[in-house]
Amino acid sequence: MSLMDIHIKHFLGLDTRTKKEKEHWKCFDCSKDTLLNVKDYYMITNELWIKYGVENNMLCMNCIEKRLGHKLRKEDLTDCSLNYFNPYTLKILNK
Ligand SMILES: [Zn+2]
Repeated sequence: MSLMDIHIKHFLGLDTRTKKEKEHWKCFDCSKDTLLNVKDYYMITNELWIKYGVENNMLCMNCIEKRLGHKLRKEDLTDCSLNYFNPYTLKILNK
């Protein structure tokens, strides 16, 4: 199932994710469901994710910024389409 499918279903009130899938989307640090808010869609560089990230798990925007010790900066972000989909990271990229 694509991210868009999951989103459409979510907004229709049909969250068809399995327990395991829901677990996968949980922020590792605060347990927030990172699928539900577009602000939590971002992609940082591999170097940063290896150092501050949580491998195949998820971190919400607030928690990655906490781990980095600063608000996301342009140089932290990759050229991934997720960062252009998210208005918050798009604003950072367009600075
Ligand atoms: Zn979090």
